Amino acid sequence: MTGNPYFDDTHRLLAESVRRFVEKEVLPHGEAWEAQGAVPREVLRKMGSLGFLGLRHPEAYGGAGLDALATAVLAEELGRSTFGGFAVTVLVHTDMASPHLRHAGSPAQLERWMPAIVKGECITAVAVTEADAGSDVKAIRTRATRTAGGWRLDGTKMFITNGVLADLYFVAAKSDPAGGARGVSMFAVRKGARGFSVGRQLDKMGWRCSDTAELVFDGCEAELLGEEGRGFYAIMRNFQNERIALGAMALGEAAKGLELTLAYVKERRAFGAPLWEKQAVRQRLARLAAEIEAGRRLVHHAAWLDSRGADCVKEVSMVKAYCGELVNRAMYECLQFHGGAGFIRETAIERMYRDARVQSIGGGATEVMLEEVAKRL
Ligand SMILES: Cc1cc2nc3c(=O)[nH]c(=O)nc-3n(C[C@H](O)[C@H](O)[C@H](O)COP(=O)(O)OP(=O)(O)OC[C@H]3O[C@@H](n4cnc5c(N)ncnc54)[C@H](O)[C@@H]3O)c2cc1C
Repeated sequence: MTGNPYFDDTHRLLAESVRRFVEKEVLPHGEAWEAQGAVPREVLRKMGSLGFLGLRHPEAYGGAGLDALATAVLAEELGRSTFGGFAVTVLVHTDMASPHLRHAGSPAQLERWMPAIVKGECITAVAVTEADAGSDVKAIRTRATRTAGGWRLDGTKMFITNGVLADLYFVAAKSDPAGGARGVSMFAVRKGARGFSVGRQLDKMGWRCSDTAELVFDGCEAELLGEEGRGFYAIMRNFQNERIALGAMALGEAAKGLELTLAYVKERRAFGAPLWEKQAVRQRLARLAAEIEAGRRLVHHAAWLDSRGADCVKEVSMVKAYCGELVNRAMYECLQFHGGAGFIRETAIERMYRDARVQSIGGGATEVMLEEVAKRL
């Protein structure tokens, strides 16, 4: 955080308080959550009571009204927890799902849900992806049809984070199947709504304490969120924040992985000296340190541009592409220098290696991000 021109005392204090929370409330329990496949609700409520879940939401609903730099701070610190599943559980709620309500909710919807979202009493999920439509959002097939009292949804969503845990889902569906991008609308669906069910919880390679589920909508009661036909644009807008969060989270993971590895190689001896004495080892870690620093500057710059309302699709896409790949390279190097110990389930680096893999896929695959960059070169 030192010498960071983008941060003021608010950001520094936020980073410190999230870091303290992680040390006290996450590190002692993370392994148990991994085994359970979920983060307990009490933890999220505690985060809510400390103000961590409403950083971006309006003060009128209990939030702090901060900008994207606060997202970057929160996400980097959660990434540093070494439990990617915990980090993504929180960030989907704060920065990927609930912003849909902040941006498009009616006053009545905001009043009804936002205070509980900020307190961590109502957990949110965002459901865009389907089995046959991931990167290509326009190809979704979940159908929205008008009814006398509102809307009904029919279709299935895939890979939805917080799919089991959530109380409120923001769901993309085709309100006009022939309308292309203009045929997509966003809907709010409450847990327990008629016609809604969680299909199955998916077993994953990493992010083990984050639940990922298939959702089924079978004549499901839903409320329109925002304007009909504007859903695709709402998703693209929210992707910006999502990608800053995911990039910053990946960066926090890479930075923490490097720290753990530096400590390890300075202790671990081979051939009569600590591994750190080997030039090949320390140069690879020094290069990684440089790449992490470059990534951090890119994340903060993109968040700062976003906070000023600038068009920063190119920079945010760079963040997602660069950090998603960087965390994978970082974990490869870090695990390598942990030797056999890094391959054993008891080490944080083994978990972090598995958690990293999805970072170049979820929320915009690297190749898709690079296309966004290329269009703007
Ligand atoms: C653990 C997890 C959690 C998730 N959480 C959510 C969630 O909460 N909500 C939600 O809606 N979705 C969620 N997703 C879905 C995620 O965003 C998608 O998996 C992602 O967008 C990629 O879509 P896909 O898996 O269908 O891959 P595809 O679109 O089939 O792409 C497969 C691969 O092809 C390549 N590719 C794709 N397009 C191009 C291109 N134009 N040029 C070159 N190469 C390309 C990429 O390498 C990509 O990884 C989650 C996924 C996972 C694994």
